[in-house]
Amino acid sequence: MNPVFADLPTTVFERMSALARAHGAINLGQGFPDDPGPADIREVGAKALIAGNNQYPPMMGLPELRTAIAAHYARHQGLDLDAGSEVMVTSGATEALAGALMALIEPGDEVVLFAPMYDAYLPLVRRAGGVPRIVPLRPPAFRLEEAALAAAFSPRTRVVLLNNPLNPSATLFGADDLALLAAFCRRFDAVAVCDEVWEHVVFDGARHVPLMALPGMRGRTVKIGSAGKIFSLTGWKVGFVMADAGLMRVLAKAHQFLTFTTPPNLQAAVAYGLAKDEAYFAGMRAGYARARDRLAEGLDRLGYRVLPAQATWFLNIDIAEFGGDDVAFCEALVVRHGVAAIPVSAFYPDAAMRHLVRLCFAKADATIDAALERLADAR
Ligand code: PMP
Ligand code: GLN
Repeated sequence: MNPVFADLPTTVFERMSALARAHGAINLGQGFPDDPGPADIREVGAKALIAGNNQYPPMMGLPELRTAIAAHYARHQGLDLDAGSEVMVTSGATEALAGALMALIEPGDEVVLFAPMYDAYLPLVRRAGGVPRIVPLRPPAFRLEEAALAAAFSPRTRVVLLNNPLNPSATLFGADDLALLAAFCRRFDAVAVCDEVWEHVVFDGARHVPLMALPGMRGRTVKIGSAGKIFSLTGWKVGFVMADAGLMRVLAKAHQFLTFTTPPNLQAAVAYGLAKDEAYFAGMRAGYARARDRLAEGLDRLGYRVLPAQATWFLNIDIAEFGGDDVAFCEALVVRHGVAAIPVSAFYPDAAMRHLVRLCFAKADATIDAALERLADAR
Protein backbone atom coordinates (compact mmCIF):
# COMPACT_ATOMS: atom_id res chain seq x y z
CA MET A 1 0.00 0.00 0.00
CA ASN A 2 1.24 3.47 -0.72
CA PRO A 3 2.09 5.15 2.60
CA VAL A 4 0.92 8.59 1.44
CA PHE A 5 -2.68 7.42 1.35
CA ALA A 6 -2.50 4.56 3.85
CA ASP A 7 -1.69 6.88 6.73
CA LEU A 8 -4.19 9.62 5.88
CA PRO A 9 -7.26 10.35 7.97
CA THR A 10 -10.62 10.69 6.21
CA THR A 11 -10.98 14.26 4.89
CA VAL A 12 -12.21 16.77 7.46
CA PHE A 13 -15.22 17.69 5.26
CA GLU A 14 -16.58 14.15 5.29
CA ARG A 15 -15.90 13.74 9.01
CA MET A 16 -17.58 17.00 10.00
CA SER A 17 -20.61 16.40 7.77
CA ALA A 18 -21.03 12.92 9.31
CA LEU A 19 -20.81 14.45 12.81
CA ALA A 20 -23.34 17.11 11.80
CA ARG A 21 -25.77 14.40 10.67
CA ALA A 22 -25.19 12.31 13.79
CA HIS A 23 -25.90 15.27 16.08
CA GLY A 24 -28.63 16.93 14.05
CA ALA A 25 -26.39 19.98 13.77
CA ILE A 26 -26.62 22.97 11.44
CA ASN A 27 -23.83 22.28 8.98
CA LEU A 28 -21.61 25.34 8.48
CA GLY A 29 -18.64 23.02 7.94
CA GLN A 30 -18.33 21.50 4.46
CA GLY A 31 -18.76 24.20 1.84
CA PHE A 32 -22.08 23.82 0.06
CA PRO A 33 -25.01 26.22 -0.32
CA ASP A 34 -28.46 25.26 0.89
CA ASP A 35 -29.87 27.00 -2.18
CA PRO A 36 -30.71 24.37 -4.86
CA GLY A 37 -28.87 26.31 -7.61
CA PRO A 38 -30.31 28.13 -10.67
CA ALA A 39 -33.58 26.45 -11.75
CA ASP A 40 -33.02 27.07 -15.46
CA ILE A 41 -29.60 25.38 -15.43
CA ARG A 42 -31.02 22.37 -13.59
CA GLU A 43 -33.85 22.21 -16.10
CA VAL A 44 -31.46 22.21 -19.07
CA GLY A 45 -29.55 19.40 -17.35
CA ALA A 46 -32.73 17.42 -16.67
CA LYS A 47 -33.93 17.79 -20.27
CA ALA A 48 -30.53 16.68 -21.55
CA LEU A 49 -30.72 13.68 -19.24
CA ILE A 50 -34.15 12.60 -20.51
CA ALA A 51 -33.90 13.47 -24.18
CA GLY A 52 -30.22 13.88 -24.79
CA ASN A 53 -27.32 11.64 -25.57
CA ASN A 54 -26.21 9.76 -22.47
CA GLN A 55 -23.26 7.94 -23.99
CA TYR A 56 -19.60 8.86 -23.65
CA PRO A 57 -19.01 12.44 -24.75
CA PRO A 58 -15.66 13.35 -26.35
CA MET A 59 -12.68 12.91 -24.04
CA MET A 60 -11.82 16.64 -23.96
CA GLY A 61 -15.43 17.67 -23.27
CA LEU A 62 -18.55 18.54 -25.26
CA PRO A 63 -17.53 20.96 -28.03
CA GLU A 64 -20.38 23.31 -27.01
CA LEU A 65 -19.04 23.44 -23.45
CA ARG A 66 -15.43 24.02 -24.50
CA THR A 67 -16.60 26.86 -26.73
CA ALA A 68 -18.72 28.27 -23.88
CA ILE A 69 -15.74 28.11 -21.48
CA ALA A 70 -13.45 29.98 -23.89
CA ALA A 71 -16.14 32.63 -24.52
CA HIS A 72 -16.84 32.93 -20.78
CA TYR A 73 -13.22 33.63 -19.87
CA ALA A 74 -12.78 36.01 -22.79
CA ARG A 75 -15.80 37.99 -21.54
CA HIS A 76 -15.05 37.93 -17.81
CA GLN A 77 -11.26 37.86 -17.63
CA GLY A 78 -10.03 38.97 -21.04
CA LEU A 79 -8.34 35.61 -21.74
CA ASP A 80 -7.80 34.46 -25.30
CA LEU A 81 -8.22 30.67 -25.21
CA ASP A 82 -8.55 28.34 -28.18
CA ALA A 83 -11.54 26.10 -27.38
CA GLY A 84 -10.16 23.29 -29.52
CA SER A 85 -6.69 23.01 -28.01
CA GLU A 86 -6.54 25.00 -24.75
CA VAL A 87 -9.69 23.98 -22.85
CA MET A 88 -10.53 20.61 -21.28
CA VAL A 89 -13.53 19.50 -19.21
CA THR A 90 -12.85 17.41 -16.09
CA SER A 91 -14.91 15.73 -13.39
CA GLY A 92 -14.59 18.58 -10.93
CA ALA A 93 -11.62 20.74 -10.10
CA THR A 94 -10.38 17.84 -7.99
CA GLU A 95 -9.74 15.71 -11.06
CA ALA A 96 -8.11 18.65 -12.80
CA LEU A 97 -5.74 19.11 -9.85
CA ALA A 98 -4.88 15.45 -9.53
CA GLY A 99 -4.32 15.13 -13.27
CA ALA A 100 -2.19 18.27 -13.49
CA LEU A 101 0.05 17.14 -10.65
CA MET A 102 0.38 13.61 -12.06
CA ALA A 103 1.20 15.00 -15.48
CA LEU A 104 3.63 17.75 -14.49
CA ILE A 105 5.64 16.34 -11.58
CA GLU A 106 8.52 13.93 -11.87
CA PRO A 107 9.66 12.23 -8.65
CA GLY A 108 12.03 14.57 -6.83
CA ASP A 109 10.65 17.77 -8.39
CA GLU A 110 10.03 20.52 -5.90
CA VAL A 111 6.52 21.92 -5.61
CA VAL A 112 5.85 25.26 -3.93
CA LEU A 113 2.64 25.32 -1.90
CA PHE A 114 1.10 27.92 0.41
CA ALA A 115 -0.24 27.25 3.90
CA PRO A 116 -3.15 27.24 4.55
CA MET A 117 -3.94 24.95 1.62
CA TYR A 118 -6.93 22.92 0.46
CA ASP A 119 -6.59 19.54 2.11
CA ALA A 120 -6.22 17.56 -1.12
CA TYR A 121 -3.08 19.36 -2.26
CA LEU A 122 -0.34 17.89 -0.11
CA PRO A 123 -1.32 14.21 -0.45
CA LEU A 124 -1.65 14.60 -4.24
CA VAL A 125 1.72 16.34 -4.54
CA ARG A 126 3.39 13.68 -2.36
CA ARG A 127 1.74 10.81 -4.25
CA ALA A 128 3.02 12.28 -7.51
CA GLY A 129 6.55 12.17 -6.06
CA GLY A 130 6.81 15.93 -5.54
CA VAL A 131 8.89 17.40 -2.73
CA PRO A 132 6.74 20.05 -1.01
CA ARG A 133 8.23 23.47 -0.26
CA ILE A 134 5.71 25.26 1.86
CA VAL A 135 5.31 29.03 2.09
CA PRO A 136 3.48 30.05 5.26
CA LEU A 137 1.02 32.93 4.84
CA ARG A 138 0.67 35.08 7.94
CA PRO A 139 -2.80 35.79 9.33
CA PRO A 140 -4.79 37.90 9.34
CA ALA A 141 -3.66 39.30 5.94
CA PHE A 142 -2.38 36.03 4.33
CA ARG A 143 -0.44 37.96 1.62
CA LEU A 144 2.42 36.66 -0.52
CA GLU A 145 5.77 37.95 0.76
CA GLU A 146 8.98 38.11 -1.24
CA ALA A 147 11.28 36.74 1.47
CA ALA A 148 9.05 33.71 2.03
CA LEU A 149 8.88 33.00 -1.70
CA ALA A 150 12.66 33.38 -2.01
CA ALA A 151 13.11 30.77 0.72
CA ALA A 152 10.87 28.28 -1.07
CA PHE A 153 11.80 28.56 -4.77
CA SER A 154 14.95 26.87 -6.09
CA PRO A 155 16.32 25.64 -9.42
CA ARG A 156 14.55 22.34 -8.62
CA THR A 157 11.12 24.02 -8.46
CA ARG A 158 8.91 22.50 -11.13
CA VAL A 159 5.42 23.53 -10.06
CA VAL A 160 3.85 26.16 -7.84
CA LEU A 161 0.30 25.44 -6.71
CA LEU A 162 -1.71 28.53 -5.83
CA ASN A 163 -5.35 28.74 -4.81
CA ASN A 164 -6.81 32.16 -5.60
CA PRO A 165 -9.16 33.19 -4.01
CA LEU A 166 -7.86 31.15 -1.10
CA ASN A 167 -9.95 28.59 0.76
CA PRO A 168 -10.06 28.64 3.83
CA SER A 169 -8.75 32.15 4.58
CA ALA A 170 -11.11 33.85 2.09
CA THR A 171 -8.21 35.95 0.78
CA LEU A 172 -8.24 37.36 -2.75
CA PHE A 173 -4.70 37.77 -4.06
CA GLY A 174 -4.46 40.94 -6.12
CA ALA A 175 -2.21 42.23 -8.87
CA ASP A 176 0.76 42.85 -6.53
CA ASP A 177 0.76 39.36 -5.03
CA LEU A 178 0.38 37.80 -8.47
CA ALA A 179 3.12 39.93 -10.04
CA LEU A 180 5.51 38.82 -7.31
CA LEU A 181 4.64 35.16 -7.84
CA ALA A 182 4.85 35.49 -11.61
CA ALA A 183 8.37 36.93 -11.31
CA PHE A 184 9.46 33.85 -9.33
CA CYS A 185 7.81 31.51 -11.85
CA ARG A 186 9.65 33.19 -14.71
CA ARG A 187 12.98 33.32 -12.87
CA PHE A 188 12.87 29.63 -11.90
CA ASP A 189 11.09 28.42 -15.04
CA ALA A 190 8.23 26.94 -13.00
CA VAL A 191 4.72 26.00 -14.10
CA ALA A 192 1.92 27.55 -12.02
CA VAL A 193 -1.13 25.43 -11.32
CA CYS A 194 -3.72 28.00 -10.29
CA ASP A 195 -6.87 26.69 -8.63
CA GLU A 196 -9.33 29.50 -9.30
CA VAL A 197 -12.56 27.70 -8.39
CA TRP A 198 -13.68 30.71 -6.29
CA GLU A 199 -12.95 33.27 -9.06
CA HIS A 200 -16.58 34.47 -9.30
CA VAL A 201 -17.29 34.54 -5.56
CA VAL A 202 -15.47 37.80 -4.74
CA PHE A 203 -16.94 40.68 -2.75
CA ASP A 204 -16.91 44.42 -2.18
CA GLY A 205 -16.41 45.33 -5.83
CA ALA A 206 -13.09 43.46 -6.14
CA ARG A 207 -12.20 41.71 -9.41
CA HIS A 208 -10.42 38.40 -9.72
CA VAL A 209 -7.23 38.54 -11.79
CA PRO A 210 -6.23 35.24 -13.40
CA LEU A 211 -2.54 34.46 -12.90
CA MET A 212 -2.47 33.34 -16.53
CA ALA A 213 -3.01 36.96 -17.64
CA LEU A 214 0.26 38.22 -16.14
CA PRO A 215 3.28 38.89 -18.38
CA GLY A 216 5.14 35.70 -19.22
CA MET A 217 2.50 33.44 -17.58
CA ARG A 218 0.29 32.49 -20.53
CA GLY A 219 2.48 29.54 -21.52
CA ARG A 220 3.30 28.41 -18.00
CA THR A 221 -0.04 28.52 -16.17
CA VAL A 222 -2.60 25.76 -15.75
CA LYS A 223 -5.86 27.48 -14.76
CA ILE A 224 -8.52 25.40 -13.02
CA GLY A 225 -12.21 26.28 -12.60
CA SER A 226 -15.35 24.57 -11.28
CA ALA A 227 -19.01 24.88 -12.24
CA GLY A 228 -19.81 23.65 -8.74
CA LYS A 229 -18.75 27.01 -7.32
CA ILE A 230 -19.88 29.22 -10.22
CA PHE A 231 -23.44 27.88 -10.09
CA SER A 232 -23.73 26.70 -6.46
CA LEU A 233 -24.06 23.10 -7.68
CA THR A 234 -21.24 21.44 -5.77
CA GLY A 235 -22.42 17.87 -6.37
CA TRP A 236 -22.21 18.19 -10.14
CA LYS A 237 -18.44 17.90 -10.25
CA VAL A 238 -17.94 19.61 -13.59
CA GLY A 239 -14.55 21.28 -13.73
CA PHE A 240 -12.37 22.76 -16.42
CA VAL A 241 -8.70 23.25 -17.18
CA MET A 242 -7.19 25.92 -19.35
CA ALA A 243 -3.58 25.88 -20.52
CA ASP A 244 -1.62 26.55 -23.67
CA ALA A 245 -1.79 23.79 -26.25
CA GLY A 246 1.62 22.33 -25.42
CA LEU A 247 0.85 21.90 -21.73
CA MET A 248 -2.69 20.75 -22.51
CA ARG A 249 -1.47 17.82 -24.57
CA VAL A 250 0.25 16.44 -21.46
CA LEU A 251 -2.67 17.23 -19.12
CA ALA A 252 -5.02 15.39 -21.48
CA LYS A 253 -2.91 12.24 -21.19
CA ALA A 254 -3.54 12.14 -17.45
CA HIS A 255 -7.25 12.96 -17.86
CA GLN A 256 -7.82 10.17 -20.37
CA PHE A 257 -6.85 7.56 -17.78
CA LEU A 258 -8.32 9.22 -14.69
CA THR A 259 -11.96 9.74 -15.63
CA PHE A 260 -11.76 10.06 -19.44
CA THR A 261 -14.96 12.09 -19.42
CA THR A 262 -17.77 13.77 -17.46
CA PRO A 263 -21.59 13.25 -17.69
CA PRO A 264 -22.75 14.86 -20.97
CA ASN A 265 -26.07 16.18 -19.64
CA LEU A 266 -24.32 18.13 -16.89
CA GLN A 267 -21.82 19.44 -19.43
CA ALA A 268 -24.69 20.68 -21.62
CA ALA A 269 -26.28 22.46 -18.66
CA VAL A 270 -22.99 24.11 -17.66
CA ALA A 271 -22.49 25.29 -21.27
CA TYR A 272 -25.88 26.94 -21.06
CA GLY A 273 -25.09 28.48 -17.66
CA LEU A 274 -21.72 29.95 -18.63
CA ALA A 275 -23.45 32.18 -21.16
CA LYS A 276 -25.48 33.89 -18.42
CA ASP A 277 -25.24 37.66 -18.40
CA GLU A 278 -23.52 39.86 -15.84
CA ALA A 279 -26.75 40.21 -13.86
CA TYR A 280 -26.54 36.56 -12.78
CA PHE A 281 -22.96 36.88 -11.55
CA ALA A 282 -23.58 40.22 -9.83
CA GLY A 283 -26.72 38.83 -8.17
CA MET A 284 -24.93 35.70 -7.00
CA ARG A 285 -22.09 37.76 -5.50
CA ALA A 286 -24.49 40.18 -3.83
CA GLY A 287 -26.47 37.31 -2.29
CA TYR A 288 -23.38 35.70 -0.79
CA ALA A 289 -22.02 39.08 0.36
CA ARG A 290 -25.29 39.68 2.26
CA ALA A 291 -25.02 36.24 3.85
CA ARG A 292 -21.40 36.92 4.78
CA ASP A 293 -22.37 40.20 6.43
CA ARG A 294 -25.29 38.61 8.28
CA LEU A 295 -23.08 35.91 9.79
CA ALA A 296 -20.13 38.26 10.42
CA GLU A 297 -22.27 40.90 12.11
CA GLY A 298 -24.07 38.30 14.19
CA LEU A 299 -20.81 36.77 15.34
CA ASP A 300 -19.38 40.18 16.06
CA ARG A 301 -22.39 41.04 18.25
CA LEU A 302 -21.82 37.82 20.17
CA GLY A 303 -18.22 38.84 20.83
CA TYR A 304 -16.47 36.43 18.43
CA ARG A 305 -13.34 37.71 16.67
CA VAL A 306 -14.18 37.60 12.96
CA LEU A 307 -11.46 37.75 10.30
CA PRO A 308 -12.16 39.61 7.02
CA ALA A 309 -13.57 37.54 4.13
CA GLN A 310 -12.88 38.96 0.66
CA ALA A 311 -14.11 35.94 -1.30
CA THR A 312 -15.43 32.33 -1.14
CA TRP A 313 -18.34 31.05 0.99
CA PHE A 314 -16.30 31.10 4.18
CA LEU A 315 -15.30 33.30 7.05
CA ASN A 316 -12.98 32.51 9.93
CA ILE A 317 -13.17 33.23 13.62
CA ASP A 318 -10.15 33.41 15.91
CA ILE A 319 -10.79 31.13 18.88
CA ALA A 320 -7.53 31.82 20.76
CA GLU A 321 -9.61 33.16 23.68
CA PHE A 322 -11.11 29.65 24.11
CA GLY A 323 -7.72 28.01 24.59
CA GLY A 324 -6.65 27.78 20.96
CA ASP A 325 -7.47 24.17 20.10
CA ASP A 326 -9.62 24.37 16.97
CA VAL A 327 -10.32 20.63 16.81
CA ALA A 328 -11.57 20.48 20.40
CA PHE A 329 -13.57 23.68 19.82
CA CYS A 330 -15.26 22.27 16.70
CA GLU A 331 -16.01 18.95 18.39
CA ALA A 332 -17.65 20.67 21.34
CA LEU A 333 -19.51 23.01 19.00
CA VAL A 334 -21.08 20.21 16.99
CA VAL A 335 -21.73 17.80 19.87
CA ARG A 336 -22.90 20.23 22.58
CA HIS A 337 -24.25 23.16 20.60
CA GLY A 338 -25.36 21.66 17.27
CA VAL A 339 -23.26 23.69 14.82
CA ALA A 340 -20.68 22.04 12.54
CA ALA A 341 -17.61 24.07 11.52
CA ILE A 342 -14.17 23.26 10.12
CA PRO A 343 -10.98 23.42 12.23
CA VAL A 344 -8.53 25.34 10.06
CA SER A 345 -5.61 23.18 11.26
CA ALA A 346 -6.87 20.66 8.65
CA PHE A 347 -5.48 23.05 6.01
CA TYR A 348 -1.97 23.08 7.51
CA PRO A 349 0.77 20.46 7.32
CA ASP A 350 1.29 19.13 10.85
CA ALA A 351 -1.81 21.08 11.95
CA ALA A 352 0.53 24.02 12.55
CA MET A 353 -2.26 26.58 13.04
CA ARG A 354 -4.68 25.85 15.87
CA HIS A 355 -6.70 28.97 16.60
CA LEU A 356 -8.88 29.51 13.54
CA VAL A 357 -12.29 28.00 12.78
CA ARG A 358 -13.99 28.23 9.36
CA LEU A 359 -17.74 28.76 8.98
CA CYS A 360 -19.70 28.52 5.71
CA PHE A 361 -22.19 31.35 5.20
CA ALA A 362 -23.69 30.10 1.91
CA LYS A 363 -26.97 29.50 3.72
CA ALA A 364 -30.48 30.91 4.00
CA ASP A 365 -31.00 33.75 6.49
CA ALA A 366 -33.03 31.47 8.78
CA THR A 367 -30.19 28.93 8.88
CA ILE A 368 -27.63 31.63 9.70
CA ASP A 369 -29.88 33.05 12.42
CA ALA A 370 -30.49 29.62 13.95
CA ALA A 371 -26.75 28.92 13.92
CA LEU A 372 -26.07 32.27 15.59
CA GLU A 373 -28.49 31.41 18.41
CA ARG A 374 -26.55 28.22 19.02
CA LEU A 375 -23.22 30.04 18.74
CA ALA A 376 -24.45 32.44 21.43
CA ASP A 377 -24.75 29.45 23.80
CA ALA A 378 -21.23 28.34 22.94
CA ARG A 379 -19.66 31.48 24.40
N1 PMP B 1 -10.20 23.51 -4.83
C1 PMP B 1 -10.68 24.27 -3.85
C2 PMP B 1 -9.85 25.38 -3.32
C3 PMP B 1 -11.94 24.02 -3.32
O1 PMP B 1 -12.41 24.80 -2.35
C4 PMP B 1 -12.70 22.96 -3.84
C5 PMP B 1 -14.05 22.59 -3.30
N2 PMP B 1 -14.63 23.48 -2.48
C6 PMP B 1 -12.16 22.20 -4.87
C7 PMP B 1 -10.90 22.49 -5.33
C8 PMP B 1 -12.90 21.03 -5.46
O2 PMP B 1 -13.76 21.41 -6.48
P1 PMP B 1 -14.67 20.35 -7.23
O3 PMP B 1 -15.83 20.05 -6.34
O4 PMP B 1 -15.05 20.99 -8.51
O5 PMP B 1 -13.85 19.12 -7.44
N1 GLN C 1 -14.24 22.34 -0.96
C1 GLN C 1 -15.24 22.14 0.03
C2 GLN C 1 -14.91 22.96 1.27
O1 GLN C 1 -13.91 23.60 1.33
C3 GLN C 1 -15.37 20.71 0.40
C4 GLN C 1 -15.18 19.70 -0.67
C5 GLN C 1 -15.22 18.32 -0.10
O2 GLN C 1 -16.07 18.03 0.71
N2 GLN C 1 -14.30 17.50 -0.50
O3 GLN C 1 -15.68 22.93 2.18
